[in-house]
Amino acid sequence: MAVTDLQAESVEVLQELIRFNTVNPPGNERPAIEYLDRYLRQAGFDTEILAAEPERPNLVATLGGQGDGPVLCLLGHVDTVLADPSEWRHDPWSGDLADGYLWGRGALDMKDQVAAEAVAGAALAREGWRPESGALKLVFVADEETGGDVGAHWLTTTHPDKVRCDMLLNEGAGDAFEYDGRHNYGVCCGEKGIFRFNVIATGVAGHASMPRIGDNALLKLAPVLAALADQPESFDMTEAPAALLRALGEDPDDPAAALARITAQDARLRPLVEPMFGVTLTPTMAGASTKINVIPSRAQVRIDCRVPPGLGEEAVRRRIEQVLGDQLEHLGIEFTEQTVGNASPVESALMTAIDEWITTDDPGAATIPVILPGFSDSRWFRDAFPECVAYGFFPQRHQTMFETAPLIHSADERIDVRDLELATRCYRDLIEQLL
Ligand SMILES: [Zn+2]
Repeated sequence: MAVTDLQAESVEVLQELIRFNTVNPPGNERPAIEYLDRYLRQAGFDTEILAAEPERPNLVATLGGQGDGPVLCLLGHVDTVLADPSEWRHDPWSGDLADGYLWGRGALDMKDQVAAEAVAGAALAREGWRPESGALKLVFVADEETGGDVGAHWLTTTHPDKVRCDMLLNEGAGDAFEYDGRHNYGVCCGEKGIFRFNVIATGVAGHASMPRIGDNALLKLAPVLAALADQPESFDMTEAPAALLRALGEDPDDPAAALARITAQDARLRPLVEPMFGVTLTPTMAGASTKINVIPSRAQVRIDCRVPPGLGEEAVRRRIEQVLGDQLEHLGIEFTEQTVGNASPVESALMTAIDEWITTDDPGAATIPVILPGFSDSRWFRDAFPECVAYGFFPQRHQTMFETAPLIHSADERIDVRDLELATRCYRDLIEQLL
């Protein structure tokens, strides 16, 4: 299939997908999933719709080869976050084409990738291509944006045999950025863990008209917030960020100097890469007295804490100690949520194939491993299938990381249609290469 045909078809499929309103909650993914089911069956896939809730099904489409072999899965979620049309230049469910972009909620997260994966698989299937052995699976799920309870989590635990795979491509990275005059394409190898906690100060209640009568717990949080506002840098170098620094020509043994040089090259990179390097502590909520005229005997600030893959409570406690120091003698720490992050190895056959494709298609460019500060459905597959190598990768060259990042979950979400073609071609070639 010619390049122009691939672009036209992926544009058409993405437009169709965007026009299904799949804002989650409530999701209502059924019409979008049924559309993909018809599209892939017509191309030659065996398909199955599996649902925990009737209106919120998932699709497993399979193209099998002769006998045992590797299973490659291309994953995508069809639900989106909400959108307020009054904030948009084009209606979020229009799928309008304007100024070289396809506009709409989900254009980047992640109906674009669903469309590219579906068109790549369908183009190969229609040409009569089949895996030599093993299988290609396209898995399109509901409910990623609110946790996957009826989507990937449910599918991997209720029907593990239907989605078991050795290699997985999902969302998470791939939009290029320039560094040292070279394009770098992120490949997401891991996702940070979440360790949320409360910092609690206690005192003695009293009537607010006589400030010295009690012992105001709220005032004890002032130095806590000051320390959080002025944190030292945090470095817990794990496999992916170490490989990232090496790929940028920096020394992972001296991450502070590396971060300083990266910042000097392009200050826009710092807020995006720094969270990959260590434990982050972000205060987001606070509370004290529930009455305006009562001095609080208890006050708390809630901290959203993100931890590199593989590290746990011990690393968090080290970091709290580093930031709050002596203050801790008078404070309580209460964990409310603990989820360890997850990762796949940085080196694998899948990484080699991605790397070769990028360096052939964009001479001089490179792939670099990155870590997602948040998380995606990849974690359910890594949990269910420990041997599975899962990466987040959707290559974009024309719409760079700096242009893309602010549009995700935001108004005017849109994708450069040239990148839609690029990703479709990439998936088609990777499928052929790996199977
Ligand atoms: Zn997403």
